[in-house]
Amino acid sequence: METISIVVPCYNESDVIKMFYEEVSKVAASIPDSDYELLFVDDGSKDDTIGQIKAFAEQDAHVHYVSFSRNFGKEAALYAGLKNAVGDYVVPMDADLQHPPEYLPEMVRILRTGEYDAVAMRRVDRKGEGKIRAFFSRQFYKFNRKISGVDIVDGATDYRMMTRQVVDSVLSMCEVNRFTKGIFAWVGFRTKWLEYHNVERPAGESKWSFRSLVRYSLDGITAFSTAPLVIASYLGIFFCMLAIVGMIAVVVKTLIWGDPVAGYPTLITVILFIGGVQLCMIGILGQYLSKAYLEIKHRPIYIAREEHTGKHD
Ligand code: UDP
Ligand code: MG
Repeated sequence: METISIVVPCYNESDVIKMFYEEVSKVAASIPDSDYELLFVDDGSKDDTIGQIKAFAEQDAHVHYVSFSRNFGKEAALYAGLKNAVGDYVVPMDADLQHPPEYLPEMVRILRTGEYDAVAMRRVDRKGEGKIRAFFSRQFYKFNRKISGVDIVDGATDYRMMTRQVVDSVLSMCEVNRFTKGIFAWVGFRTKWLEYHNVERPAGESKWSFRSLVRYSLDGITAFSTAPLVIASYLGIFFCMLAIVGMIAVVVKTLIWGDPVAGYPTLITVILFIGGVQLCMIGILGQYLSKAYLEIKHRPIYIAREEHTGKHD
């Protein structure tokens, strides 16, 4: 008999959390030969999310929670959830019912066969998402796959059930800058992919603005690839060669036609261009340096204000 831990990061989800709790409890209770734990991680919500979670916990022993001292972001909430989960199988789920609970029994069934270590869900469409947003998301996954060498499947979500072994491997990656999708892909293991159609939020709103998504994708790139750093070296070599060719051209030209002063605007343009490229490369260096700086501080990934979990250590 296995215990299933359902890990739920929540940030200002008071509009949907009750609906979520009721639906997921129903499905989880229906899975044969298993027990379950619903572990909510309140990511410093400013509304009544934690109040509602506590109310569930009071009358339902399946409900556990961790409450953060402030908003640390979804990645931190996921980490806290995986860390405090006691189950043999652990599955993160969004609180907004965009991860359809009806797949849970199927996931358990697949893991029980022992053929796979994880069952992951892949969204096959982006219905209900803005066209521009969907386009950029797709480009990001393509680009990231190319340069990082980590196979992040397009449409992959955080909705995946993992065995204890996979969860422990994920937790063993203790970086502060956590790009969970990349981490899941990086740890490997035998993963079965199930497909589903996008579900729109029944209530509440997405916490992602376009800007935060751009920041998220840049973080994703720097977290798993150092390829941008290499660009500088290649560009440097390219410009050196260009300069040598230019030098020869100037010498030859002077020898043949003499030395009339000309080309001032060209000179300025070239200086500006090279300067721009250099600043850009220093910027990339800075991105990595700042990441290294934050990692080296060894700050905790989250700070809990309150905990009510199944962990007894
Ligand atoms: N979330 C969180 N902390 C945050 C932002 C989001 O824990 O700072 C949670 C949120 O409550 C939800 C999940 O992460 O359960 C996914 O968020 P959302 O639905 O806003 O993202 P989307 O589905 O639009 O990608
Ligand atoms: Mg959502």
